[in-house]
This record gives sequence, structure tokens and C-alpha cells, in this order.
Amino acid sequence: MRFRDDVNVLFILVDTLRADRLGVYGYDRATSPTLDYVARTGIRFTHHLAQSSWTKCSMASLWTGVYPPRTGVTRFDDAIPEEATMPAERLAEAGFRTAAIWRNGWVAPNFGFAQGFEVYERPAPGAVPLSVRREKPHVDLHGSDRDVVNSAKEFLRAHGHERFFLYLHLMDVHQYVYDEPSAKFGSSYSDVYDNSILYTDTSLGDLLTFLAERDLLQRSIVVIASDHGEAFSERGIEGHAKHVYRETTETPWIMSLPFRVEDGVEIPTRTRNVDIWPTLLDLLGLAPLENIDGRSVADEILSLLARREDIDPSEDRPGLSDPVAYSFLDRTWGQIRQPPKPAVAVVDGPLRYVYARSSDGRVTEQLFDRTTDPSEATDVLAEHPDRAADMRRQAESHLDAFEAPPWGDAAVSVEIDAMELNQLRALGYEIP
Ligand SMILES: [Zn+2]
Repeated sequence: MRFRDDVNVLFILVDTLRADRLGVYGYDRATSPTLDYVARTGIRFTHHLAQSSWTKCSMASLWTGVYPPRTGVTRFDDAIPEEATMPAERLAEAGFRTAAIWRNGWVAPNFGFAQGFEVYERPAPGAVPLSVRREKPHVDLHGSDRDVVNSAKEFLRAHGHERFFLYLHLMDVHQYVYDEPSAKFGSSYSDVYDNSILYTDTSLGDLLTFLAERDLLQRSIVVIASDHGEAFSERGIEGHAKHVYRETTETPWIMSLPFRVEDGVEIPTRTRNVDIWPTLLDLLGLAPLENIDGRSVADEILSLLARREDIDPSEDRPGLSDPVAYSFLDRTWGQIRQPPKPAVAVVDGPLRYVYARSSDGRVTEQLFDRTTDPSEATDVLAEHPDRAADMRRQAESHLDAFEAPPWGDAAVSVEIDAMELNQLRALGYEIP
């Protein structure tokens, strides 16, 4: 057992949250005082990558620890099969009360995401104050994340004295929801995104205060993560679920532990969403998920924490080398019976290689080097042909040479009824 055996898990997924829009990841606007505080008294993973730029594909990998080409959950009607082992199942077996409160239809139960949860529900949309605005066009998702926070408080009032795993999936950033007090950053699309991060940060501050008042923070691991980022025409693309460049795949991973970490600890090793649950299960002393792509970085965390207490300056940073990390999107995910148009990003050290294959097999590729070009605006592929050729081989083997997932068969297709389709369209996606 790594931690005491009464530790709870609060897993907060802020949909569509770019790491570089948070103060603690270097943003110059004060969008995230609560998340910055969590990082400064806990753990922050400085180089983190989501496995897709589209919710369902990304979340399937986050929960299973398996890359998208292996999960097979890559298109609008794919689902995680019953045979897959989900973290909530592990935690339920270990005696946790398990509950999820979510507002994104892409993680609905019919896609296999409810496995292991006693309660898996979309909160009833409450009245939204008149001061709250929604700036995203063509979007009709009722309520706000205040409904999630209110339901979470209800759950904690009822079950906070038991050992719990609570998953909250927030959507106000995705929906560009904000109110007057958070309307600090102007009115462009990108400014409004920042406003809505501040609005969400305030909702989270409210929830964490509630936990602190009940002495629950000292008995919980709080995890903050996201499924993907958001593009603002950096290269002519807006939104997400369209490609796998840095702006839609570099997401935060922040955790608070059941004790306060003075000044916070930063983990510089590259991490991925597929590493989150291997790490949490390891920290909790629970059995690992077998034959997956992610890995636990618990040793890295614990040795950095230990070094805080007993500093040996001659000792190098322990252990893990950076993994090669991948993001994936089938750009025809929303179309029926279309041949796939895969895009893959291969991230190795400061380099990001972006590979895209059209349905007739034509390949485009780009290479970016963040050491000299942090916004990854300049394609340097012509300057590094050998490196690019290596990374192309890695991208192609990621796409084509993967082994079956640990649960045997890949994804299953599900029927989505008209009402569910409408709920997904209401999020602003074009689907059949
Ligand atoms: Zn999403």
C-alpha cells in the first residue's frame, strides 16, 4: 500500500482545456488561481500529452491506458466493450463507492464508459443565472457545470464518510460559458475561452472549499486533467477533433495528494493521459491494468517527494526516461462508411512529427522543434530528413502494427438513437 488505505479519489476532467492557458503552465493571464494553487501545493506534470483531440477517442485511452489504434474507439459509433477492465471496476472491487457526474454525451454509458460506476449520471440542468453567457454558436447544452458541482456536493454529503471515487466531467470551457466576474479578458473567441476557464476555475474553487471544510482534502487525491485542447486558427484550424497539433493535444495533469506539498513538485518527465490511471492505481496500491501502453510514474513522484525531505544534491533525478508519446485522430470519425483518414503526432523530446494520411493513402508530414519554436509554427522537416524518416516509421507502425488490446477484440459498434444523436449535435459536432 503506497498511501493510507482510506484515501479517496476525486477525478476532475475539464473538457477542452489547453495546458498553456493556465497560469501554472506559464500563461500570462490569471485564468486559473484555483488550479495554480492545487499545483503549488501538489504535483504538476510539466509536459503532458492527450491521446486524441476528440473526447470519446481520448477518454477511451485515458481510462484504459491503451492508445487509440489499439482501443479501436476511433469513430462516432465505437464503444469500449464489456471485456475491457476500467479503473472504476478496480476501485469498486477495492471497496470504493463509485460515482460519475458528466455532461458530455461522448462519455455516455452506451459507449462503455459507465463500467464499474454505481452511479453514472448526467445532472438535471438547473436554472442558469442571467449573468451567465454562452458564446459558442450552434450549441445547445442545457445547464452549466454548477449542476455538476451541486450534484458532487450532494454525493459528498451522503457518501463523504465512506471511501469514494468521484469522476466529474465538466463542460463549461468546451461551451465557452462565463459570467460577469470572469469576463476579464476581452471578447474575441480566444478571450472568451479564457473567460470561461476562469469561470470553471471559480466553480472548482467552490468545490474544493467544500471538501476542505469537511476535512476531505486530507483524505483524497484530487486529479485535474483534460481530454484535449482547442485551436484558435494557429494554422487555419479552429476548435478540436480535427487534427493533432500541439494546441489540441497538450493538456494539463495536476494532482493534489492527501497531504500538502510545500511549493509543489514538478515532474519534468513527459507523461500522457494513458499514464494517469497506471499511476493512480500504483499510488493506491491496487492491481495494475495489464498489457497496456501507459506506465506508472508513481516512483518518480515518490522519489521527488522523498528528496524534499532528505536532499542529496549529488544524486541525479531518478529514473524514468521520456517515452515517445503519440496522439491520434481518425479525421473521418463522424462519417458513416468512409475510409479512415488517420492523423498521428509522434512526440520525442522537443520534436513533434505530425503525420496525416488521406483516404487514398497520400501522406503529408511536418516536423516541429519546440526548443527554437515553442508555438510550433515553422515546419523544419526539410532540415532533418533522417529524423523525420525515423518518426514516419514510428507513426506508421503506431497506426498499422499495433497488437490487440488487453481485452481481446477491439471496439464494438453501438446503435445511437435519434435523441442521443441530437444531444451530440447539440455540442456543435457535425455527425450523420
Ligand atoms: Zn472533449
